[in-house]
Amino acid sequence: MGVSGPRPCCVRHGLDPSAKVCPDCGTVLVRCRLFDECRQVLGPADHCPVHVAPRLTVLGRCPPRIPAGGSLSLPLVVRNTSGCAGSELHVRRIFCQTPGGNPLGVPPEWDRLRAGEEKPLFVDTGRVEVPGHARLRLTLVLGWRAGGAEETFAFGGDVPFVVEEREAAIQVGQAGGDVIVMGGRKGGWTDASGFAPTAVALERADAFELRQGLRGYAEGGLRIPRSVRFEFAGFPEGEAPPPGRPFVERDRLRCGRNSLTFEKPNDLRLLCRRPDGAVDRDLSGRVSGVHFELLLRDDRLCLVPLGANGTWIDGARADGPADLAAGARVRVLAPELKGPELEVRMQVEGGFAERITMVRTDGRGGR
Ligand SMILES: [Zn+2]
Ligand SMILES: [Zn+2]
Repeated sequence: MGVSGPRPCCVRHGLDPSAKVCPDCGTVLVRCRLFDECRQVLGPADHCPVHVAPRLTVLGRCPPRIPAGGSLSLPLVVRNTSGCAGSELHVRRIFCQTPGGNPLGVPPEWDRLRAGEEKPLFVDTGRVEVPGHARLRLTLVLGWRAGGAEETFAFGGDVPFVVEEREAAIQVGQAGGDVIVMGGRKGGWTDASGFAPTAVALERADAFELRQGLRGYAEGGLRIPRSVRFEFAGFPEGEAPPPGRPFVERDRLRCGRNSLTFEKPNDLRLLCRRPDGAVDRDLSGRVSGVHFELLLRDDRLCLVPLGANGTWIDGARADGPADLAAGARVRVLAPELKGPELEVRMQVEGGFAERITMVRTDGRGGR
């Protein structure tokens, strides 16, 4: 699996919002978080193509030509083509990579791009020595906010360019300096020199996302899809939800002292017990009503600590949202208090987590 899009049968059946599983192929149906606006059924690692729809164009002559040893400063325009009025993109960085070079990322001078809006960008290749036909790899790193969560995606595309032998370049009179600036002066883009803009074919750069740690876990190349099966083990009935796929429909799970039937109910109840199994009311009182939340953030499992008396992950107190890898140990309250402890277990297939089990490992879950 990769970023491959949903199957046609899933798209067809997924348009009915009450369908949970595709009756043709058995796939769990995942929809855009803003499905009412876009009616998009998504594959396991997909972005919504209606809401997250960047377009990149090159201004000036294509392919650009530079003399060997020169550098290319390329004027670009990024456009948010989404037709959904509220869909705002945040351009975090643009990476520019010449053949054999490392991707160099620069933040643009602006960030927000509202639906239908476009803004200019420049990238600079640095010196390119080897003559011939070459490709410049451009990768846009974007943020997209839906509901309470912001997701990060990378999109990449190639711009062909020509590096000319120095003598040839001089002969055609282009080597006025080492830097060829296309389409007007740097910082302005009013003069596109009469050339029509050329679109760069952008594709999701999922391998880049993993490598750069933008999505999923760089270590192990693992992603958690929203369709992941999620369960808790080692808790008595009534204190944990039945196994399910909560993130298909919801953003987060609430965990803490409050019961599952409280006015703002938790998904998981965290109580402290004595060795004989009786609830330790004093210690349980230190656990906050909602002590932490679990959510998926950029294909990773993330814990958001909320409890006044702290949550520890692998022995360190979590000060803010923190990713949980397979094998992570979550301790509610300071470790010496011997409060509830959970271990994260993941079952993986083909680079995707199929199932996550959070097992209570302090032996005081009760039964
Ligand atoms: Zn299907
Ligand atoms: Zn959408």
